[in-house]
Amino acid sequence: MKTNLDIKALDSAHHLHPFTTHHELREQGPRVITHADGVYIYDEDENQIIDGMAGLWCVNIGYGRQELVDVAAETMKTLSYYNLFFQTTTPYVAKLADLIAEKTPEGLDQITFGSSGSEAVDTAIKLIWYYWNLEGKPEKKAIISRERAYHGSTVAGASMSGLPFMQGIFDLPLPRFHHAGPPPHYYEYAKDGESEHDFAMRCAKAVEDKILELGPENVAAFAGEPVMGAGGLMLPPEGYWQEIERICRKYDVLLWSDEVICGFGRTGEWFGCQTYGFTPDIMTMAKGVTSGYVPLSATALNKRMADPIINADTEMAHGFTYSGHPVACAVAIRNIELLDELGLVGERGAEISRYFQDKLKTLDDHPLVGETRGVGLLGALEIVKNKETKERFDPAGSAGLACRNHCFQSGVVMRAVGDAMFLCPPLVISESEIDEMFARIRKALDLTA
Ligand code: PLP
Repeated sequence: MKTNLDIKALDSAHHLHPFTTHHELREQGPRVITHADGVYIYDEDENQIIDGMAGLWCVNIGYGRQELVDVAAETMKTLSYYNLFFQTTTPYVAKLADLIAEKTPEGLDQITFGSSGSEAVDTAIKLIWYYWNLEGKPEKKAIISRERAYHGSTVAGASMSGLPFMQGIFDLPLPRFHHAGPPPHYYEYAKDGESEHDFAMRCAKAVEDKILELGPENVAAFAGEPVMGAGGLMLPPEGYWQEIERICRKYDVLLWSDEVICGFGRTGEWFGCQTYGFTPDIMTMAKGVTSGYVPLSATALNKRMADPIINADTEMAHGFTYSGHPVACAVAIRNIELLDELGLVGERGAEISRYFQDKLKTLDDHPLVGETRGVGLLGALEIVKNKETKERFDPAGSAGLACRNHCFQSGVVMRAVGDAMFLCPPLVISESEIDEMFARIRKALDLTA
């Protein structure tokens, strides 16, 4: 192992980063994060930065929890690995499946595991297709998602995402993937004078129109993030999900909640579908299930979908070497127990979410802030040049980028998509840390003007 090397030079020499324009990165050099604790990350110069994004929307329990370190080490010693193919199981995967089934809405009781959100999404797609084949409706294969959705970056996940920049360069999307729009984001897509209710119905109708255009007999499922995340942190307007659920039932289209960001307490309940009051047939989850300590994802099926698969004579010929990895399962179990013990999906979670949302609202008076919005411990603000007309500084989103950089200099991580800025802090954040985070954000906004 080489020692005493310049990490930036080493990284630039050999590392292709995810979602990165490489010549820009290599000109500027990457930021080097060396350690983390609680809600703080530290760079190589020991600058202390509040992680307002919980890593990549995942470190729900905060960094450096000894309980998770201990359970990972114990499990590595006891059963470092075993597979679940060939009629075997482990205590870890069996207990985790039981625990997740207890937390998911009634009926979503059959769980299969992967390592990433994208794997959970691919798993869901294959099981949906398999289900309709078993039901004798092999023509039902179209998957509808929404413009600006994010569902992962594998071939299928990127096809299902509604983000053309992820697709064109790879000759995606694949056939069978269709996108409905507009996405349900009132601030950006509502017409002048349109009520929130009318807007919700128009967005849901766009999904219904897509089902009718493709023919309901060809449509397998509709997939959505309860709160749209990576594409723009868009909160569903009142009544939207109930209307979507009604439409899916009317045309016998499976309803899929992609809970990769919203799951495990992020929106106040265990899952976003519980916060927004709808019951899916299938759910995908990852990130918060282990708070990002080790990779693990899960796909949950309800009885309707699971029964034909369980009773089929054919093998469910799908899975991964690391499906239900014992170390990942042990960490997930302890992480979920901790979320419970600390009341983070409960009384304490509700209390700190209220505090966070109140603080977020205080930014409404800033001359650059066109809107703030949020739910649970998710928040966003829109940077505008003109609050009345919602005019942006420029279409490329340079103000968002500038603000993100000022945030980092001021000691807080926010993410920017165009001129929308996001927050998703660890659920363990305290009131005083929230105060400090918003003081740093206000400073960064002042510098952005
Ligand atoms: N689905 C949603 C809703 C996501 O937000 C993400 C990642 O952000 C994924 C799927 C893909 O997860 P992963 O990056 O772990 O593959």
